[in-house]
Amino acid sequence: MQDVITQVSYLIAAALFVFSLRWLNRPTTARRGVAAGVAGMLAAVFGTLLHPEIVNFTWIAVAVLVGTAIGIPLSRVPLTAVPQRTALSHAFGGLAAGLVGTAKYQLWLGEGELTPFRTSAIAIEVLLGFLTFTGSLMAAGKLQEVIPTRPITYPKQNVINLSLLGIAIASGIGLVLNPENWMLFPVIVALSLLFGVLLILPIGGADMPTVISLLNSYAGLAAVAMGFVLENKLLITAGALDGASGFILSVIMCRAMNRSFANVLFGAFGQVQAAAAQGEQKAVKSATAIDAADYLANANSAVIVPGYGLAVAQAQHRVREVYDQLTRRGVTVRFAIHPVAGRMPGHMNVLLAEADIPYEALVEMDEINGDMPQCDVCLVVGANDVVNPAARSDRSSPIYGMPIIDADKARVVLAIKRTMNPGFAGIDNALYSADNTLMVFGDAKAVLSDIAGALRAEQEGQAAA
Ligand code: NAP
Repeated sequence: MQDVITQVSYLIAAALFVFSLRWLNRPTTARRGVAAGVAGMLAAVFGTLLHPEIVNFTWIAVAVLVGTAIGIPLSRVPLTAVPQRTALSHAFGGLAAGLVGTAKYQLWLGEGELTPFRTSAIAIEVLLGFLTFTGSLMAAGKLQEVIPTRPITYPKQNVINLSLLGIAIASGIGLVLNPENWMLFPVIVALSLLFGVLLILPIGGADMPTVISLLNSYAGLAAVAMGFVLENKLLITAGALDGASGFILSVIMCRAMNRSFANVLFGAFGQVQAAAAQGEQKAVKSATAIDAADYLANANSAVIVPGYGLAVAQAQHRVREVYDQLTRRGVTVRFAIHPVAGRMPGHMNVLLAEADIPYEALVEMDEINGDMPQCDVCLVVGANDVVNPAARSDRSSPIYGMPIIDADKARVVLAIKRTMNPGFAGIDNALYSADNTLMVFGDAKAVLSDIAGALRAEQEGQAAA
């Protein structure tokens, strides 16, 4: 009976995971998707706890307590730190897979039950699990800037890295052929841990979000292998869903940046950018928030381009005030959404949804670009790389070919940022020194507050007159 309840719980959990992914696809159903994912995980844990093989619950209770103690603070990080938080989750997933594989190898070695199939599954699980562990820790460290974000390169790096991976795979094959040769096991573990570190070293911070979703896919594949080791069908299903969705997300990000996988993994992207950033800076024109309010108030149509700086400043509610003030005056206001604005896909959608900005006002990059020449004022809020015209025109630029929002084609561009520092890609942006651009220097939240205040004061002045 217990087994039937476990199997039914697993079936429900698998269905909920599929629905969760489906619902997470659309902003309107995303909350339902999260709830389905949580419910699916609860059903999976419930079904597993009923498993007749479990005779002692003490260690499970300890693991739940430790996991909860780590998980609760992790869930409270700001939205801008979600990529590194996600990397830490993958690190834990990879470590769990690696440790379960190690424990099973030791157990079955003692009992003489290491079949070639079991040993293959363990070798794959341990390799992917441990490399995901150290790779994800490195990625989280780079994003949190506790380790240098620039690519660290040395001669013959790719050859060395691929050779180490080759030796690890060869050791895995050796272990499958002779499972009793336990000396190969620590070699696989050590090389996988080392490969995880070396894989991330040459990748610049700007590529970390893509790498994180790739590591997500490795963690999923490690879970599939773990499912085969533990003979758990739900783990195989959930791991496959995780692996495939991580891979699809990486492909979407690469496409949005017009980059290939090989270029992300072996291209040392940030290094070229650091050199490009040395170029001399042209003079820029600056304006006050009151000037900006004036331009916006007199526009027929305005496009707001949100970027990472909007998230840093947590200015979503202030941009909503500006949006309200302008739409009340009859200005057509739309938000131009770039697929990789911010630090994760959908970052801007989540941020603007927090401020209840209507979805109809959010327009995808491809759709809005055709309208940009007719746009009176383009207000760029903390966006940089995603509006950098070098991506369209400068063949030598490291972001050449990346689709951008054509902010520069608007009649007037107002760009809010604190300094002339470059964005995440580390390169200068000619948009800021263009003839039709005015810089409004300051923190996005403060500047948008001032713009909203100026618009309100003008409206009240008109009403009183
Ligand atoms: P960005 O190029 O990183 O630029 C953000 C700008 O915001 C900076 O120039 C910064 O200038 C400004 N800023 C920071 N804090 C601010 C504040 N408090 N107030 C006002 N401005 C502030 O951002 P983006 O244009 O959104 O581009 C995203 C980048 O991430 C791209 O390079 C993209 O390829 C990369 N990326 C994204 C994803 C993803 O999934 N979203 C994935 C992979 C890579 P100041 O410091 O001068 O203020």
